[in-house]
Amino acid sequence: MEYQGNPVSEGIAVGKVLRYERFTPKIEEKTLRPEEVEPAVRHYEEARGGAKAELEHIRDSFGAGGEDKKKIITAHLDILMDVAMDEEIRQAIHGKMLPAENAIQKVYSKYIRRIGKAKDALIRERATDMKDVCTRILRNCAGVREQSLAVLPQPVIVFADDLFPSDTASLDRSKVLAIVTEVGGPTSHTAIIARSYEIPALLGVADALRLVADGERVIVDAVDGRLITQPTEEQVRAYEKKRAEFAKKAAETKKYIGIEPVTADGEKIEVELNIGSASVPELQGSKYTTGVGLFRTEFLYMGRDTLPTEEEQYDIYRKVLTEFGDRPVTLRTLDIGGDKKLDCMDLPKEDNPFLGNRALRLCLSHRDLFKTQLRAALRAGTIGNLWIMFPMVGSLDDIRNAKQVVQEVRGDLDREHIPYGKNIKIGIMIEIPSIAMIADLAVKEVDFASIGTNDLCQYTTAADRLNPTVAPYYQSYHPAMFRLIRYVAQEFKKAGKPLCVCGEMGGDKLAMPVLLGFGIRRISMGLASVANVKRILSRLTVARAEELAENVCRQETAADAAAYLKSALADIL
Ligand code: PEP
Ligand code: MG
Repeated sequence: MEYQGNPVSEGIAVGKVLRYERFTPKIEEKTLRPEEVEPAVRHYEEARGGAKAELEHIRDSFGAGGEDKKKIITAHLDILMDVAMDEEIRQAIHGKMLPAENAIQKVYSKYIRRIGKAKDALIRERATDMKDVCTRILRNCAGVREQSLAVLPQPVIVFADDLFPSDTASLDRSKVLAIVTEVGGPTSHTAIIARSYEIPALLGVADALRLVADGERVIVDAVDGRLITQPTEEQVRAYEKKRAEFAKKAAETKKYIGIEPVTADGEKIEVELNIGSASVPELQGSKYTTGVGLFRTEFLYMGRDTLPTEEEQYDIYRKVLTEFGDRPVTLRTLDIGGDKKLDCMDLPKEDNPFLGNRALRLCLSHRDLFKTQLRAALRAGTIGNLWIMFPMVGSLDDIRNAKQVVQEVRGDLDREHIPYGKNIKIGIMIEIPSIAMIADLAVKEVDFASIGTNDLCQYTTAADRLNPTVAPYYQSYHPAMFRLIRYVAQEFKKAGKPLCVCGEMGGDKLAMPVLLGFGIRRISMGLASVANVKRILSRLTVARAEELAENVCRQETAADAAAYLKSALADIL
C-alpha cells in the first residue's frame, strides 16, 4: 500500500517500524473503601518494582561512552528508592485512603514543587528527573510498557502522532532510520530538527500510527513523499538502490561545505547558521558559516520545569558569541506560543494560538521574563558581535515598545554599574504581512531585519503550518510570497540596511536563487543545508538569479512557480 506525506527532510529508508505513543497519566479524584487499601499498597509496590527493573535494565545496557546517560539513570533510581517519599506514598494510601496513582502523584508533585523553587539551578533540574520517575511509576501502574527514543536496541523507523522537542533532544540518532508523523509540515520543529540530524522525515501522513504494526517492514521515500507498507521484494530492492544513489549524491554535496560562499561570478554571500542551543554539534557549524543568522533562544526554555535564570542565559549567549568571534550572532528573543509550549510556564489555552499572545506579544505582557532575557543578552554583548532580533512584529508600535524595554534594561544596568554591549544592533523578524507591507517605514526604526518565511507563509496564505489538512494551502512558492519578499528586499536595499532570510526558504534549493535575484545577500539555515547552498551558489551567477527572480514573480500559481524553478535550475540542481 502507498500513502502520501510531506518529505520535509530528504532521504530514503527501508526498515522496521517502531510505533511511539507518549504515555499521559489519567488520574481521577477518588478515595478507597477500607478493603481496597491493601491491594492498593500492593499495586504501588508492583509498579515501583517494575519501574526499578526497567531503570536497572536501561542502566546496564549502556556500554562504554554511555557514562553520562548512566549517571542520569542512576539518579532516577535514587529518586525511585528514596525512603522518605516511599514512606509518604504508603501513608497517603493508608491514612488518606488514596488509590496508588493518586498517592504517587500527590507526593511527587509536592517534592517537584519544592525543588522547583530552589535557588541552585542544579537542584532545580532534579525536578525534571522527578517528573520522569513519577511518570515511569504511573505508567507501570497502568500496565503500559516503556517507550523511549533515547535508548533503541536496533535501527528503526519511528512512527508517531507528533514529536516534542524533549523527544527529539534525547533521540538515539544513530538508530533512527526515518521519522514518520501524523502532524507537522515543512516548517514544524520536528522537520527542522530532522533536517539538522539528517534523518529522513515524512510528516503529515494521515493516520500514520494506524497504518502500521510494530516491527513490520516499510519503505519511507522522503524524496518523493511516499510511505510504502508491506512492500514487495522487488520494491525493497528498487528502494535500496535509490537509497544508495541518494547517499552517493549527499556525499558529493558534502564536499562543498568548506568552500567560500561566493557565486560563480564572484559575489560574496553571507551564509549564516540557524541554531537552537550552544551544544557542541550545533556550534560545529561555526567552521562553515559567516555568523549566526538565527539563534532560536526559546529552546533554552523548553523541556524544563523552571525558567532559565539570567546567569544561565548569560553563560550560553557568551559561549556562542565567543565561538563566533567578530562574526554576527543574531539572537532572537523568546518566541514562545503557537506550536512551541513551555513546561515552566502555565500559559492559558487559546483557540487560535498562532494568532494569539505569542512571541514578542507574550514578552511585552510578561515584562519580567523579557527583561531577564534582555539583561542576559545585553551583558553578553560585551563580547563578540551581538545582534538582537524580535519575533512576531506586526506594527511600528511593536518595534517601539520592544525598543523601549531594551532602553529600560540599559537604564537598569547603568544604575547597577553592570557593563553591557554598547554597539548591539537591534532588528526585527519580518514574518507578518502587516510589517512586510510597511517595510519602507519599518526599515527606519531598525538596524536590520530578517525574513521569517515559515511564519510569513503561514500568515500570508492563512494556512496553519502544522495542520496536514491544509498543507496544500501552505504555499511557500505562492506568488504573493515572492512579491512580498521582493518588496521588503527593495526597501532594505534602498535604505542600505542588512536584510537576511532565516526561514526555511533560505536553505531551499529552488527559493534561495530567487532571494539572491531580489538582491538579498545574507541567508541563514540549518547546518544540513549549508553544503548544498554553497554548491548551488558556486554554479549560479547574479545575472541568472535576477532573471529567475523576475520570471518567478510573473508565475500565476505556486505550482507554476515550482515547475518554472525546477526546469530553469535543472542544470544546477
Ligand atoms: C520563521 O517563521 O520563518 C522563523 C525562522 O521562525 P520559526 O520557524 O522559529 O517560527
Ligand atoms: Mg517564526
